[in-house]
Amino acid sequence: MKATLALQGLTFRREGKTIFENLELSLSTGEVHVLSGANGAGKSSLLQCVAGHPHYKLESGQIQLNGENIVDWPPEKRAQAGIFLAFQMPYELEGLTVANFLRTALKFFPQHPLHGASATEFYQQIYRLLEAVGLPKTFTGRSVHQGFSGGEKKRFEWLQLRLLQPKFALLDEIDSGLDVDARQCIGKSIQEMRSTTGFLLVSHNQDFVTLCQPTALHQLENGHLQNLP
Ligand code: ADP
Ligand code: MG
Repeated sequence: MKATLALQGLTFRREGKTIFENLELSLSTGEVHVLSGANGAGKSSLLQCVAGHPHYKLESGQIQLNGENIVDWPPEKRAQAGIFLAFQMPYELEGLTVANFLRTALKFFPQHPLHGASATEFYQQIYRLLEAVGLPKTFTGRSVHQGFSGGEKKRFEWLQLRLLQPKFALLDEIDSGLDVDARQCIGKSIQEMRSTTGFLLVSHNQDFVTLCQPTALHQLENGHLQNLP
């Protein structure tokens, strides 16, 4: 069944500065929307607001997930409902291993095939995914994002996307710092997932945007979202 995420009249200000105002955007599963705009235009802020980051509280507007306003939902409830954010600058979590992080995340997703899986099943799948995103098995024992290169961080965000298969994927410059092969693989992942997932992605790379076969292009400028032809 088609799912919808509608951003209605979103206004976000920070320290008296308007980041965006009365912003409207509607995204459905099967669609790939690209968000562009200059550095500092507010693209990451918009994605953080939708994901529910506590430091990014909207001043007004509604976020309708399948017709229900989720603007008061905490980030974990939004994630459980199928909203996924790949961070532009992922947080480093010292002392939390990749394996424990993923295992803990899966506890919050009762419908996931790996929820409650045995350690053997879990590791089989994670090793398969690590290989698919081009990371070695030893990453299961590394602290999340700590000491990862820029490209490795993006590959691990991509792994989480593939593992969780969200309804809506907000991808904040997931292609930045990646080599051509990895960019092509992510483009392919998006094509494989798009019948059941809606994508809102930020990218400055025209080749990557073309690979993603977008259905809509938007530009954020001076706090307003323009739809590009
Ligand atoms: P973009 O992703 O389009 O480059 P951002 O959403 O990251 O833009 O930033 C929008 C504006 O908000 C910028 O002027 C930026 O400096 C400011 N900003 C973002 N995060 C913070 C923060 N944590 N503290 C202060 N200002 C911030
Ligand atoms: Mg940004």
